[in-house]
Amino acid sequence: MKPYKHLFFDLDGTLWDLKRNTRAAMQELFTTHADAIGHLDFELFFQRYHHHNDLVWALYRQDKIKKDELRYVRFERAFSDVNHHAAHEFIDRFSLDFLDVAPRQSLTMEGAHALLDYCAPHYDMHIITNGFIEVQGHKMKAAKLEPYFKAIINSEHAGVRKPHPDIFHYALEQAGAKREESLMIGDDWEADILGARDFGMDQVYLAEAEEAHNAALQGKGVHRHNYKPTYTVHSLLELMDIL
Ligand SMILES: [Mg+2]
Repeated sequence: MKPYKHLFFDLDGTLWDLKRNTRAAMQELFTTHADAIGHLDFELFFQRYHHHNDLVWALYRQDKIKKDELRYVRFERAFSDVNHHAAHEFIDRFSLDFLDVAPRQSLTMEGAHALLDYCAPHYDMHIITNGFIEVQGHKMKAAKLEPYFKAIINSEHAGVRKPHPDIFHYALEQAGAKREESLMIGDDWEADILGARDFGMDQVYLAEAEEAHNAALQGKGVHRHNYKPTYTVHSLLELMDIL
């Protein structure tokens, strides 16, 4: 193993529990907007939201959709999929409320604080995130993640998003780090893993438990498009064996 000095973490889905926090926020919004929503099937709506959210984020990473459109469209399509034909004003309100409520959720991924406590004395730690600048700080504060990190790199500051190599360049500069002593840790195959790989930085892929389990059964390690990340883990706690 290389003697790493700098750890670069993704935030959403890597440290901040995107799935559980999104669910909690959405449930809160279903309560707040109960009058307008009526008896919508929450699980179905939530599933459709995820589907559209993933699609628009992929476009956003490629700079094919603007932030305001992303915010709105994922909800417009989810409501439409469940045959709830809401007025533009309602969707706009709902999508803005979501950006207000979601970042105040505080759940972290299993082992996040334990890992950060374990690493803090030995490494300089930083964040590289594509998330909206006005919400990422709230998430870190709510989840008590702020004190661990030196450089917090937001794609809106960098001017490009992961997986673009320039954001990794910018991050190293901000952190005063060298490529060969840096490790990228993230849950997104394209943005975090292929992004860091193409930049020339080692990677830890935090894979869904199921994906990691299937790969282990085949004795392979997670492997896609002929690429195997430097390390693959399915829980942050496993990183303690690597670092
Ligand atoms: Mg992520």
